[in-house]
Amino acid sequence: MSKGRIMVVDDESILRMDVKEMLVEAGYDVVAEANNGDMAIEQAAIHRPDLIVMDVKMPKMNGIKASRIIQKTYGIPVLLLTAYSEQELVQEAREAQNIGYLVKPITERDLIPSVEIALGQAMRINCLLDSIKKLEHQLEIRKKIEKAKGVLMAEYHLGEEEAYRKLRTYCMNNRISMDEAADHVIAHRSLKLDSLTS
Ligand SMILES: [Mg+2]
Repeated sequence: MSKGRIMVVDDESILRMDVKEMLVEAGYDVVAEANNGDMAIEQAAIHRPDLIVMDVKMPKMNGIKASRIIQKTYGIPVLLLTAYSEQELVQEAREAQNIGYLVKPITERDLIPSVEIALGQAMRINCLLDSIKKLEHQLEIRKKIEKAKGVLMAEYHLGEEEAYRKLRTYCMNNRISMDEAADHVIAHRSLKLDSLTS
């Protein structure tokens, strides 16, 4: 099984091949390659790799600018490859989110652990984002149910618990979720609840 789908970006084809070889040997899939920032953005959109290993100094668009755009648009983590002389750029890269860096020359000993860490971090971030999305969705449903309950209380002069029971019965009788039932109640206000529930 592949350990991750990676894109390699460098304007020097020999360096790109070296990095690719190290990654493939370590069990990663190199799903795309690019030789400048523009092409990196294009390829990221098509292949959606798990991680991008990208050179900083490239023609057309440099790696830092490209990584910022890729981060913002696709949320793909980037591991930048920089020359020792590019200290200022490295500092800039550090400040950007979800971006790590390695100083050239790149060796297998540096590259593979950094790739593993970057992928691990990205996975944790994605898990957290997923949880947040789920929680937000649950909260939306809860709010909707509260609103539907309020509608039923007003329309049928019910207490809170009774309104909730009616909503549950309605959803069971119609084999729909509480979410859908609440939508229905909110949309129709004067739901023909009595004819549908016992
Ligand atoms: Mg370069």
